[in-house]
Amino acid sequence: MSRKLIYTGKAKDIYISSEDEDMIVSVYKDQATMLNGARKETVAGKGALNNQISSLIFEKLNAAGIQTHFIKQLSKNEQLNKKVTIIPLEVVLRNVAAGSFSKRFGIEEGIELERPILEFYYKNDDLDDPFINDEHVLFLDIADTDEIAYLKKETRRINNLLKKWFEQIGLTLIDFKLEFGKDADGRIILADEFSPDNCRLWDAQGHHMDKDVFRRDLGSLTDVYETVLERLQKLT
Ligand code: UDP
Repeated sequence: MSRKLIYTGKAKDIYISSEDEDMIVSVYKDQATMLNGARKETVAGKGALNNQISSLIFEKLNAAGIQTHFIKQLSKNEQLNKKVTIIPLEVVLRNVAAGSFSKRFGIEEGIELERPILEFYYKNDDLDDPFINDEHVLFLDIADTDEIAYLKKETRRINNLLKKWFEQIGLTLIDFKLEFGKDADGRIILADEFSPDNCRLWDAQGHHMDKDVFRRDLGSLTDVYETVLERLQKLT
């Protein structure tokens, strides 16, 4: 049976599952983009690596009691997810100053933030995903007060788990971006992906083990993602 394409993104294509209308198949693509798609390149093998990394992390999050959209990995490039309506927010959590945070506040990359800092960005390509605060979220009717509180609490809970897992494999979780969605029952669950495309990971020597390798032309992106996957596979 042919399945129906419902969304084509920068890193993934999304289809409605031919078996169940409440499920989607996410197909991870061999594409790397930056600057909202202004720079776009094919990177052979990246889709399979990110699918495996994200599947592994989401499986561990599910096991730790986090509600997520992840059901199972279907193949090298495909995973089965619960269908959700994505909340148009990029929830960014920072443990260490880097990237746009360092630029905005003139703070050197690598400075540890005593209390991890949570930021919201409005997911809107036409507006270049602007930085927004809780009051903007309310004004734009993206989430209500209770939902904002839940998103923040859940993101910090996820950070505590991820930080610990990456620490166990010699990587520091610098920052990351999450997306949440509402399932058929209106429950907020973690959606999208977790991969080196949307987080920063530094090894003990300070090497970038994430998409900054592509953004800053630091070498082979797939070599680095392969190392992250191999290390994650050693986690118990
Ligand atoms: N991030 C993302 N998608 C975006 C913007 C940021 O996944 O559209 C991730 C990024 O990989 C990093 C974190 O969110 O792990 C914080 O990114 P930052 O705001 O520093 O922006 P950048 O410097 O990557 O443009």
